[in-house]
Formats: sequence, structure tokens, C-alpha cells
Amino acid sequence: MSTESTDYVGRFAPSPTGPLHFGSLVAAVASYCDARYNQGKWLVRMEDVDKPREMAGAADDILRTLEAFGFEWDSEVINQSQRSDIYEDHLQHLQRNGFIYACTCSRKEIADSAINIGIDGAIYPKTCYPKTYFNKTINSNTRERHASASPMGTASWRINVDSAGLIAFKDAIQGNISQQLAHDVGDFILKRKDGLFAYQLAVVVDDALQGITHIVRGADLLDSTPRQIYLQQLLGVTTPHYAHVPVVVNADGEKLSKQTLAKPITAETSSALVFEVLQFLGQNPPFEFKNATLAEMWRWAIAHWQLEKIPRQKLQIYNT
Ligand code: GLU
Ligand code: ZN
Repeated sequence: MSTESTDYVGRFAPSPTGPLHFGSLVAAVASYCDARYNQGKWLVRMEDVDKPREMAGAADDILRTLEAFGFEWDSEVINQSQRSDIYEDHLQHLQRNGFIYACTCSRKEIADSAINIGIDGAIYPKTCYPKTYFNKTINSNTRERHASASPMGTASWRINVDSAGLIAFKDAIQGNISQQLAHDVGDFILKRKDGLFAYQLAVVVDDALQGITHIVRGADLLDSTPRQIYLQQLLGVTTPHYAHVPVVVNADGEKLSKQTLAKPITAETSSALVFEVLQFLGQNPPFEFKNATLAEMWRWAIAHWQLEKIPRQKLQIYNT
């Protein structure tokens, strides 16, 4: 009996900013097949933490579409929008340990004062970073400022990355990845001025609390992974295994994420689409499976799943 396989917990974590598209289907299929091939659990989490970016009805639409494709998830879908208290607890834990600080800068102030550009634009120049913060006794001014900033929502909360050093990990598809957070990213936001929690915090907290052991997702999130690993380190939780599948682009190199699936999803078209996704993922489904039923398609896909066949690139063209 294999011991590793029974411990596998994977997940698919869509953001309800629109209906499921081919690109998100790729992430769903890859995470699902990898979990099932390893006799693992597979969870779905609705990442609706960024309410302003949500499209009305998209969350339900995504779940219905996943059902139409025959995906089966192992416990109830959790919604990030319902979990602010949990994120707040973890934020406060980081605050008590002196890892975060309040920032009142406007976008414009940052743009005007930034000197360095990182992978996500201007590196925050630490304007609001309290110089005394890391003294054993945090001075009362700082503490007051922090205490007052939080409930009133007048400040965002940033994490100090000076002590992160080089964050390195081995991605099962993309190989060795490393990042110097201070140089490449800077002190990033965990809670926004409008009171909403940032994806980076929410995803780390939820992956940890849901016991996720294996994360298979799009390579557009490869750059975010070192930030997430740093947060895992500070929160004292285990870093999962990562595998980042290529992002789907069209012949002009544009992401397909804004496009919806061209054809309506029915029992027949869904199995043909899974076939195309398997091709995209380098799984070489036999040609005669093109017209297989969904059940046959999934049986084949899971039994023959080979993560090592997935193209080792961040972007891959897909011609519709
Ligand atoms: N919610 C994110 C997205 O749809 C994915 C997050 C993740 O898989 O870590 O882009
Ligand atoms: Zn600031």
C-alpha cells in the first residue's frame, strides 16, 4: 500500500470573474487528473475575495459547468467571501509578530516615489515602514497607528519582505524557481485599504486550513508562489508541492482568459473539450477517444495521467 498517495489533497480555486473558459478548464482538468491518479481528494474553492471584480452569477455558472463536465469534488465548496474573520486572525498573528505594517500611501504617491521596478511594477519604497518596528519593544506610537489603521480601513497592510532572502522551490513542471522578494516584488499588500484581503493571504490561509498538499494551477501564478511560500513560513504552515501548467495563449500570444468557451457545453461537447485539454496537456489521448463519452474520457485520462508529459513551458499556443 502506498502511503504517500492517500495523503494527497488537491484543489481547483477559480475566481468568479466570468464563466469557466478553456484556460481555467486546463487548470481544472490537470489538478483533477493529478489528484485522482494519486488516489487523492480534490476540492473546489470559490476565490471570491475580490468582490468588486466578481461577475454576478459567475460562481454558480462555474460550478454548474464543472458539474456538466463530470467533475466530482470531495467536500463542500468554500467561499472566500465568507472567511474574512479567518483571514483577519491570521493577519493579526502576523501583526503580533511584527511582520506587517500599515501603509497609507496612494497609488500616485507610490508611483511618484518608487525607484525600482519589480516583476509586478513599482517596488513599494517602504515609505510607511516604521523604523522602530523590529525593536523588541514596539514604540507606542507605532502600535497606536497600527491599531487605529486596521478597523477604520484607512490603510492597507503590507508585509515586510526584508528577511525573506532567496525563496526557492522546485516546481514539478517548471523546474527550479527562485525569487528575491525584496528585489523582485517588495513589501506586498495583505489587506487592502477598502478592507478586502489580498489573494496572496487568502490563498495561503485556505490552502493550509484545507490541508492542500498538491497545487496544480496555471503558470500565471508561478510568480506569486514565492510570496505564498514566504507567508507559509511566517505562519508556520507546510509548503505544498507545486506544479504550474502552461497558460493557454492564442497565436498572437494573448491569454484566452477573457474569452469564454466558444461552444455551449453539452454532454457531447464537454467530452470533446476534455479531449482537447488532454491534448493541450501533452497526454496524447488516442484518436478514437475523440467521440468517447465523458465517463470513458475521464477513466482514460485518470488511468493514463502523466504529469511528466505536460509541456515544460509557461505559455502554450492553443488554436481554437
Ligand atoms: N483564483 C485564482 C485564479 O483563478 C487561482 C488561485 C490558485 O490556484 O492559487 O486565477
Ligand atoms: Zn505607504
